[in-house]
Amino acid sequence: MSVRVRFAPSPTGSLHLGNALTAAANRRFADERDGILVLRIDDTDPARTLEGGEEAILDDLRWLGIGWDEGPVRQSERAALYADAAGRALERGAVTDPDGAIRLGHTTLLRPGGTATYQLASVADDLSLGITHVIRGSDHRPNEAVQQLIARALGGELPEVLHHGLLLGDDGRKLSKRHGAVSVAELRDGGVPAAAVRSYLEDLGLPAHDVRLDRARIGRLAIDAIAAMPDEELAAVAGVPAGYAQALRGARTLVEAEQLGRQLVDPEPVSLPPAATPTLERFVELRAGAGELDEAGARAIVRELKAVGGDLRALRLALTGAESGPALGAVVAALPSDEAVERARRAQVSD
Ligand code: GLU
Repeated sequence: MSVRVRFAPSPTGSLHLGNALTAAANRRFADERDGILVLRIDDTDPARTLEGGEEAILDDLRWLGIGWDEGPVRQSERAALYADAAGRALERGAVTDPDGAIRLGHTTLLRPGGTATYQLASVADDLSLGITHVIRGSDHRPNEAVQQLIARALGGELPEVLHHGLLLGDDGRKLSKRHGAVSVAELRDGGVPAAAVRSYLEDLGLPAHDVRLDRARIGRLAIDAIAAMPDEELAAVAGVPAGYAQALRGARTLVEAEQLGRQLVDPEPVSLPPAATPTLERFVELRAGAGELDEAGARAIVRELKAVGGDLRALRLALTGAESGPALGAVVAALPSDEAVERARRAQVSD
């Protein structure tokens, strides 16, 4: 029988990392078995349905490179299936309450208004979509027995269920908004490359026990992912010409790379006091005389200025408009000669 798994987020907005772990685990499980991943949106509970929530999840999955083969299947569009399932359950022990709700034992299947609960909808879908394995966080472990009872009341069997350990915050509690920067969107906006998040999730695999979120590790993976980016790609994300990529190499996040990129292509104008003039003039001579420069040549110019007691802080300010940034040698190597000379002249106060 071919493997069919599903990832079933509620549309509450950008995925938190725990849910992203579930998504990655389902994708991998399917890929390793030549199986199918169905994306299901659990939107039967209005309290857990956020405007734009589904789109945010699809964006996150695309950004992470986690594709799906079928769906999105929306539970809000399957009321008829659930009504039918509830009807079947009524023939096998479910009862109708005076308020109209249908329940099996202690579990509500249909609410008084006739909408399906997560428990009924999830089981009816797992059966009707031919799901063979349910892979989800261990916070759902208590649901397994209840869902098996429902599956049998519907005349079926629950798929095999694998529960993985949860991601916890630094305080050892289940990851949630109060831990800050735990959603995929927050990491993306913070400049963590998708490859870093994905490799963090892949390394965790299907954890048997709960694990604490290791932000420092995500930070190191971000540095690795940026280091592994080809020049063209890094330059494109940072919005600079490819020739400037080398000067962005110290960036720890893509946001930093963008900031460094801005210093290179669009520096804040500066006016430096007369004390800076000898350094800037000497730089103009050295740079204009050097023609095409590689990084070693650029570093040689910086060394020479330093040897004569030049004011390297002033040179950096003149070239980048900032007190700190990429290695000065990398800046000098990246900027075309005319541009560097022009910036060194412009920074001098004329009187
Ligand atoms: N919508 C549920 C959640 O996001 C899905 C649980 C399940 O996989 O059965 O936790």
